[in-house]
Amino acid sequence: MGGGNGAGVTVRPAEAPLQVVLAGPRSFCAGVERAIEIVHRALERFGTPVYVRRQIVHNSHVVARLERAGAVFVEELDEVPEGATVVLSAHGVTPVVRADAAGRRLHVIDATCPLVAKVHAEARRFSRQGRHVLLIGHRGHDEVEGTLGEVPGTHLLESEADVQALSLDAGAEVGLLTQTTLAPDEVAPIAEAVRARFAGTAVPAASDICFATQNRQEAVRAVAAECEVVLVVGSANSSNSNRLVEVAARAGARAHLVEDAAAVDPRWLDGVRRVGLSAGASTPETLVSGVVDRLRSLGPVEVTTRDVVDEDVFFQLPPEVR
Ligand code: SF4
Repeated sequence: MGGGNGAGVTVRPAEAPLQVVLAGPRSFCAGVERAIEIVHRALERFGTPVYVRRQIVHNSHVVARLERAGAVFVEELDEVPEGATVVLSAHGVTPVVRADAAGRRLHVIDATCPLVAKVHAEARRFSRQGRHVLLIGHRGHDEVEGTLGEVPGTHLLESEADVQALSLDAGAEVGLLTQTTLAPDEVAPIAEAVRARFAGTAVPAASDICFATQNRQEAVRAVAAECEVVLVVGSANSSNSNRLVEVAARAGARAHLVEDAAAVDPRWLDGVRRVGLSAGASTPETLVSGVVDRLRSLGPVEVTTRDVVDEDVFFQLPPEVR
């Protein structure tokens, strides 16, 4: 997708290098690092095959690399032989999946990001308080499926219209949750509509949108404000990568999601002097380097980094692979 930049026509003199501005932070977050490390350690400790339910993180290159190392990716647990080792993806699962795994005597290693697990815990807390649970998120995303399953009857809200369509009384006590990888800009009007309709709305003390999502969005927004074009490296099914494209476009850049270097269309850079570069939390940094190399193959480039936040978050590994 793209957006106008209002910068008018810019013609880069043939000898002027293309300015490439790297957004910092970008690429892997602590939850993704942890999930990938869990699969590697499980392979080392338990040998091949190690099964992984769904894409461990939403990046096709990460999945392909782990497949080469001996991981076998499955959609559902009925594809896993009884008693085998299976890793649950970073996006989390419903209690039904856990019960299914226990029933089939699978050796489960849970790579659910602790920040997704926190949202699940909030859902249970709201439910214990007798609240109706509302979740702002995108239907069909693995994380949303998992959170919806935590408390049966949870209502998914994708728009303000969904809030109006809820068949709940105005006096209903509701608890409002959010998918971790959304943009605050898209959540705000929906959350506002919930508060306007239900006076008894409770929200978690801290935003459910995780630090990694917020930091990457802040960084890409800063870069987009000073670049005509922004490239976001990430897979099409990566929620946080898609949000980075939208945030960059809203900040005035022509923004494109690229799976890898091969997806860069040189025509996007015609007459462009400054291009911003970011990557979703599930995208390896090597793919960003690949895009820089591709830009270099098209002409001289000068690379700088615009760091807006330092990130030093680390999540402990689960006991099975510690
Ligand atoms: Fe966890 Fe956020 Fe990374 Fe998702 S994007 S794995 S919620 S830290």
